[in-house]
Amino acid sequence: MEPTTTICTVVAIDHTALFYTVCSLCERTLPEPNTAASSLIRCNYCTFTGSTQCKRMFRVLMSVATETKVFVVVLFDRAARVLFGCSAQHFIDFTNIHPLCGETASKILEGEMLKVTLSNPKNGNAQHQRVVSVVPLKSGFRPLIDTLTELYGVRADC
Ligand SMILES: [Zn+2]
Repeated sequence: MEPTTTICTVVAIDHTALFYTVCSLCERTLPEPNTAASSLIRCNYCTFTGSTQCKRMFRVLMSVATETKVFVVVLFDRAARVLFGCSAQHFIDFTNIHPLCGETASKILEGEMLKVTLSNPKNGNAQHQRVVSVVPLKSGFRPLIDTLTELYGVRADC
């Protein structure tokens, strides 16, 4: 199916799971590291083994409402950055200082009107339509990190 473009309103984002980890060599998804600090992460696709060199990327589940239905879409890194205004790692660093900012981010986005282009999952296992591009419709839309930085009173570049 061809990608479809639609106007929708944000209902919420799942702020409990905003990220996934990719291999810093081949950028494929890595298994989540377990909590033990000494645990090594092994990539299933290449020779990478490590504990610190993996990269975090955005994978955001977002409930949206159109005129006719409410449904969940998934935003990967490129689309999510439009809304967040920063890299996943930057947002993680910010969350480490301000643990509630994921929840706040969801509240800030609530009711935001977006024009989204959705593609249907290519493989049958994926549950959600994927956002391939997103354009906030509000004039003067501010990325989440800007609003959060203002709320929490921290400079964006620290
Ligand atoms: Zn790899």
